[in-house]
Amino acid sequence: MLSISKNISCISQNIEEANKSCFHENITLVAVSKGQSFDKIITAFDAGIINFGENYLQEAIDKKLHLKQLAIQWHFLGPIQSNKCKLIAENFDWVHSVDRLKIMKLLNDFRPVNAPPLNICIQINTSGEETKSGIAINNAQEYLNEFTEILKDLPKLKLRGIMSIPSNTEDINQVINEFKSMHMLYVELKKQINPIDTLSMGMSNDFKLAIEYGSNLVRIGTAIFGAREIKTKRSGN
Ligand SMILES: *Cc1c(COP(=O)(O)O)cnc(C)c1O
Repeated sequence: MLSISKNISCISQNIEEANKSCFHENITLVAVSKGQSFDKIITAFDAGIINFGENYLQEAIDKKLHLKQLAIQWHFLGPIQSNKCKLIAENFDWVHSVDRLKIMKLLNDFRPVNAPPLNICIQINTSGEETKSGIAINNAQEYLNEFTEILKDLPKLKLRGIMSIPSNTEDINQVINEFKSMHMLYVELKKQINPIDTLSMGMSNDFKLAIEYGSNLVRIGTAIFGAREIKTKRSGN
């Protein structure tokens, strides 16, 4: 458990270093706790982490219930099916993996009236791999224009920015190209939609590079918590 707080301070230092030449005001660290135990989350929280990311709905809800005394901001990162939208809208503060209108409408409709607007990022597929979720980067501008028009009528959603998971490759130039095209898209989008403020990219293996190419929110799992424990179907514990 000691190593979790050590990992976090080491990562925070790396984030600062990577940011030296980038001048972001602020870089958000989301600790990706899927497949990790309650105790590990508590240790990370005690070390100063308030943002936690999860991919599997039931596992996340179990954790949220168990840890409800902790003031955690919960981020949903996994693929979204329509039948999950109600529970996602009720239980999360952020959703990074929105990629179609139907899902946006359902999240808006199910967001409780007394809750603040749900923060969303649109997931962009930069890798061209068809198995990956997200809007293809080549059509992204067009889709985003359409989405932002429709978002005007979805007051329970707040568009914060875009998210991507790069190709799973050893080829660093490929990854850099994908980060660059995300950054270009983000800059374009920011010109059109002022309040967006989030470029969500960078994981354990590539977060420093992601920050150098403009990311201001990194999602880090194994580098904080170690290898994920085997996931049981009913809960992450
Ligand atoms: C699992 C996951 C992460 C964290 O991955 P690590 O390699 O463990 O840091 C980040 N983002 C998403 C969308 C994920 O699914």
